[in-house]
Amino acid sequence: MPALSPASSSSSPSPSSPLSREPVVAALRAAGCVFAEDEAELLLSAARTPTELAALVERRVAGLPLELVVGWAGFCGLRIAVEPGVFVPRRRTEFLVTQALAQAPDASVVVDLCCGSGAVGAALADRLGPVELHAADIDPAAVRCARRNVAAAGGRVHTGDLFRALPGELRGRVDILTANVPYVPTGEIALLPAEARDHEPQAALDGGADGLDVLRRVAAEAPRWLAPGGCVLTETGEHQAPAAVDAFARAGLATRLAVCEESDAHVVIGVR
Ligand code: GLN
Repeated sequence: MPALSPASSSSSPSPSSPLSREPVVAALRAAGCVFAEDEAELLLSAARTPTELAALVERRVAGLPLELVVGWAGFCGLRIAVEPGVFVPRRRTEFLVTQALAQAPDASVVVDLCCGSGAVGAALADRLGPVELHAADIDPAAVRCARRNVAAAGGRVHTGDLFRALPGELRGRVDILTANVPYVPTGEIALLPAEARDHEPQAALDGGADGLDVLRRVAAEAPRWLAPGGCVLTETGEHQAPAAVDAFARAGLATRLAVCEESDAHVVIGVR
């Protein structure tokens, strides 16, 4: 691995940028990082000293997801704090946020189930302005992380299994219900990138035999929690989309599928 400290670096760093870029790029590229230049910029801006930089590069080269190395992920223009053992918000999921805002631009009660880091709820509150925001996850590590991310919006984060985590007084009042459920079919978990397989909790990815176990449970209960005209949105995979739409329709929701080709995002939207 190329030397990372300026003292032993072959390029001579300028006084204003004591942390040398080239060896970082080279180390990342050698480790197989496709966006080595972009990642190097991020690591350089995250490190305050050469020692810190070397530590960050070492963790990235060892395969830790970039977001966990720097401690945050960009999502809808926000910096979302991420922590080890918590699902890293995907850029793709920004499409779900956009769709929710288009469907219910005046929402005042927002619930984010399977919240992970809380990115979706935080982004919705950021766009909507003052709202009553609730997020929930079954995993205490996610709940802790989400609390950091929804604090600015005054959001509350609950621990528990889907709707069981929520205060009962939310029944019939929710304007936007989002659930980025785990939707990878169990048999396809092994095909995920190593970053997801090795560093994200299986429970945040594994959606059962056809990937729709959790989605079906969300669909079945959503109508009881939605306000009249309220909407529920979940992300799904391309091949699962017809079955996901069917699950929403069976729950009595007016259902449609929104697709973003560019980010390969499929979002099922159900309206009560
Ligand atoms: N394969 C999906 C992804 O990595 C998994 C997302 C999910 O299960 N919510 O984006």
